[in-house]
Amino acid sequence: MDRQPLKPSQMDGKLTYRYDSAGRQVALLPARCKLGRHTLGHSQFHAVVHDGEARISCLACATDGADHFWRLSATAPAPDRAELSEELYFELALRQSRTAPTSGGDQRA
Ligand SMILES: [Zn+2]
Repeated sequence: MDRQPLKPSQMDGKLTYRYDSAGRQVALLPARCKLGRHTLGHSQFHAVVHDGEARISCLACATDGADHFWRLSATAPAPDRAELSEELYFELALRQSRTAPTSGGDQRA
């Protein structure tokens, strides 16, 4: 099913933050796992920030031996709070599932 080998050294994007009404930083995590197979809920993923890199691992994919974690560059230490965002990382997830060119293409002038 894999069309293209994934390079393990490749970062997927940047970790995004927002500030709540009290000015506290909240990390925004992808709401879906990297392969797009699962919606990440509190019991289904594991997120760590280490050395400027956030890794959000899908536990279901991890037991499967699949490419299970997002690698996002982090500009700050892990905040106390995190939220899942469906929209923010939607394009990343889309890109993951679109690595093979399809017929036609949608680049219209
Ligand atoms: Zn998964």
